[in-house]
Amino acid sequence: MEKKILLNERDIPRAWYNIQADLQTPLPPPLNPETGEPITPDMLSQIFPMNIIEQEASVERWIDIPDEIIEKLLIWRPTPLCRAYGLERHLGTPAKIYYKNEGVSPPGSHKPNTAVAQVYYNKISGTKRLTTETGAGQWGSALSFACNLFGLELKVYMVRVSYNQKPYRKIMMETWGGKCVPSPSPDTNTGKGFYEKNPEHPGSLGIAISEAIEDAVTSKDTKYSLGSVLNHVMLHQTVIGLEAEKQLASVNEYPDVVIGCAGGGSNFAGLSFPFIRDKIYGKNIKIIASEPTSCPTLTKGPYIYDFADTAKMTPLLPMHSIGHGFVPAPIHAGGLRYHGMSPIVSKLLIDGLIEARAYTQLETFSAGILFARTEGFIPAPETTHAIACVIEEAKRAKEEGKEKTILMNWSGHGIIDLPSYDAFLSGMLGDYVLPDEEIARLVKDLEKYPKPR
Ligand SMILES: *Cc1c(COP(=O)(O)O)cnc(C)c1O
Repeated sequence: MEKKILLNERDIPRAWYNIQADLQTPLPPPLNPETGEPITPDMLSQIFPMNIIEQEASVERWIDIPDEIIEKLLIWRPTPLCRAYGLERHLGTPAKIYYKNEGVSPPGSHKPNTAVAQVYYNKISGTKRLTTETGAGQWGSALSFACNLFGLELKVYMVRVSYNQKPYRKIMMETWGGKCVPSPSPDTNTGKGFYEKNPEHPGSLGIAISEAIEDAVTSKDTKYSLGSVLNHVMLHQTVIGLEAEKQLASVNEYPDVVIGCAGGGSNFAGLSFPFIRDKIYGKNIKIIASEPTSCPTLTKGPYIYDFADTAKMTPLLPMHSIGHGFVPAPIHAGGLRYHGMSPIVSKLLIDGLIEARAYTQLETFSAGILFARTEGFIPAPETTHAIACVIEEAKRAKEEGKEKTILMNWSGHGIIDLPSYDAFLSGMLGDYVLPDEEIARLVKDLEKYPKPR
């Protein structure tokens, strides 16, 4: 009876898996909103280094991971694959439940898998300083950790409400040497406009993105970095699934069901893409992305061209979206409140290779509490969405009397999010389902853009 399936350090993946090589039809290109034409690499070169832009468009199946990145990944990788015996027993299910524990990284989530890679590629391109935005702070802390490893400066624009309400991630960022300011800030033209009218402006992710991009474009040797959604981020996360594949094979297992929560899509992609490849070539396997009913991008958002940010500074991306004007309800799963979705994950849903489900906040926190009480580890509020889906599938296996193997991505721990557990345990949390009419209203003015094909 094995509880933790561990890999040796020498078994760490040496190449990322690029699913673009195996898609049935190519991904629709990002478009220039002014001309409606595909964007060119040099339009992106103001904000990203060329080697990352090349990865974004690459259709090579395997991309070697440079030794310098492996050396940093080894700080916490390979991560354990654990069998959730406690949860299985509680549910009385014949299903075997495995979870890949990405919460063991120093910042506590899967995000440093791409942070470390992005900082490395920037460094070898001559970038001296990075900028980014962060909502609840998970991405800012992962990037600060990575910038410190490679000696780059970092400035993080953190949405002011979160900056005030969630001081711990800011302290993590500063501990690793990153600079973190509340947004809107007086440091950029975009920020100044809001800041001067109201120095206590609560901010939004859209304003923070605009500030970070403006800073990158107007400062010397500075680039911008994004923690999810884009193709190169999905690519860097595939170390998760590649490790899990080896770990399961070592105990003669293969999953019937693969589950991950989806905000911008990166931890879901990281675990599932190597298995989706098997599915493309004939394997019978169910792959499920799990999201909140308050931000139902995959389950209710149409497949359209939309901006990646609220301020409409980015190219148009082909994706499931509930509209860049979406203002999220104050749910606690901060990382799952993004209006859009990775273009690759979006296309996989259109191609029928994955399915999506949505859960309410109370369902997911109940699942998180059950996990903590049966397995010990306290999951991040985002991760509880994957757990709710796992529980549903395990109960179904019980009804059907089938011994299924379920694989889940445990994307991060919730130790920095304990106030949200406090709110749940004291009965202060509610449910929110985004109404269909609201989604229709939010995507209305996007009809003028072409349909992705
Ligand atoms: C950021 C985050 C997510 C959501 O982002 P994805 O890109 O969809 O993975 C999920 N879980 C945790 C713990 C996170 O920090």
